[in-house]
Amino acid sequence: MTSAIVVGSGPNGLGAAAVLARAGVDVTVLEAADTIGGGTRSSQLTVPGLVHDDCSAVHPMVIASPLFRRLQLDGLTWRNTDVDCAHPLDDGTAGAFARSFDRTDELLGADGARWRRLFGAPAAHFDDLFDDVSQPLLRVPRHPFTLARFGAPATLPATVLAKAFASPQARALWMGVAAHAFWRLDRPMSSVLGMALTSAGHAHGWVVAEGGSQAIADALAADIVRRGGTIETGIRVTSAADLPPRDALLLDVSPSVAAGILGDGLPSRVARAYRRFRHGAAAFKVDFAVEGGVPWTAPAARVAGTVHLGGDALEVAANELEVHRGRMPDRPFVLVGQQYLADPGRSMGDVHPLWTYAHVPHGFTGDATEAIVAQIERFAPGFRDRVVATAVRSTTELSRYNSNYVGGDIIGGASSFRQVVFRPRVAIDPYATGIDGVYLCSASTPPGAGAHGMCGANAAARALRHLGIRTS
Ligand SMILES: Cc1cc2nc3c(=O)[nH]c(=O)nc-3n(C[C@H](O)[C@H](O)[C@H](O)COP(=O)(O)OP(=O)(O)OC[C@H]3O[C@@H](n4cnc5c(N)ncnc54)[C@H](O)[C@@H]3O)c2cc1C
Repeated sequence: MTSAIVVGSGPNGLGAAAVLARAGVDVTVLEAADTIGGGTRSSQLTVPGLVHDDCSAVHPMVIASPLFRRLQLDGLTWRNTDVDCAHPLDDGTAGAFARSFDRTDELLGADGARWRRLFGAPAAHFDDLFDDVSQPLLRVPRHPFTLARFGAPATLPATVLAKAFASPQARALWMGVAAHAFWRLDRPMSSVLGMALTSAGHAHGWVVAEGGSQAIADALAADIVRRGGTIETGIRVTSAADLPPRDALLLDVSPSVAAGILGDGLPSRVARAYRRFRHGAAAFKVDFAVEGGVPWTAPAARVAGTVHLGGDALEVAANELEVHRGRMPDRPFVLVGQQYLADPGRSMGDVHPLWTYAHVPHGFTGDATEAIVAQIERFAPGFRDRVVATAVRSTTELSRYNSNYVGGDIIGGASSFRQVVFRPRVAIDPYATGIDGVYLCSASTPPGAGAHGMCGANAAARALRHLGIRTS
């Protein structure tokens, strides 16, 4: 029987393994940590019974993913809030959007129509669009008109696209979504991720997985095991030479870790490219247990699954630039997840899990906990007094927790123009390592960050082609 080893059980490793197992390959997943899931783990980080997402939380890209649409996994239930995302301002108002454009009209006033003009078409055809953007960009698109309509605004700097809106609320809301790119927002292509996330939100909602993001990993793992695959935890792979014989090897790891595992077997041009691969700004994560929830001043923030904190559009852009330049701002951009609003089973009575992280410079060695608390207090006075327990993961702890988070970079590589178009290196087949039957399949390959599993699915498709296995 044809066999494959997948190193790493993040959504891309498990996604690759699921595709291989369904094609009849005898697949083994080897995971360094004691539990599976990589960026899709959940655990009781603060007080017993409270379910926190260790990493990823919000999953419009999973629900829309061609891989997940194809797999139709059991055991995954998606939950949504009335408002997907709110961005409060100092005057007590907020920009906010909901899945439905009609509800977004109510939230954004006159800018609702402009918001719909920008995101209406990509949202209406989001699944077609995702079919194209989830593949390497150097190929003939399947839906060229949909892609062109999305691509024209997406290539603009986010600061330029912000001018499409008249109100400070809508501008700040847009800039907060664009900031997910962890990149300076005045550069071409800095709108790509924000456009994709917003369009996905209007197509499917900024959903969370019932029971925590761990449910995504568990559903993939159950599918793999049902088809005869094996998953082993607590095994850190350091050299391909130590692995049992196999027909294909897929690596759900960062390019630098792949270079270490593959050693001298890696062609020197590929080794050089993997060493040169750039990692971007970092995350500093703090989870809170909060009694009675967050006392947001802005009503929209009280019912939003995600809340972005960073002040107005100019302030967000300026602080993202500081972080990009390696300087820690006093008021960093902070993302807040209130998943329990959609999925109340994650709380214990009136004590709720609150997921937050701040954007900080790559390799930041300081403590951003107080900066995060201060940003929440700014828009929710009294928050501090409601905190029952806190769990902190600094950039160093994040990279120790998962070696893919190099220097605290949680999105698998900097969102520079070059790395958005070509990642991890300039190549027709970005998954190929130059060694026959060996593929990189982590978020450092196209289409990049997110729990969508498409990097793994694409690498697995190449492995199957190499193995001469046809799938429908
Ligand atoms: C705080 C945070 C918030 C996020 N929020 C979101 C979100 O809301 N929505 C979203 O879609 N995405 C989000 N992401 C990003 C998302 O989690 C990642 O893009 C995604 O998990 C990448 O998947 P992956 O399979 O490429 O790698 P990972 O999920 O990083 O998994 C890699 C796995 O490989 C293992 N591994 C590494 N090296 C070795 C080795 N040598 N041997 C064996 N095993 C190894 C690791 O332990 C890990 O389990 C977030 C990430 C973080 C950290």
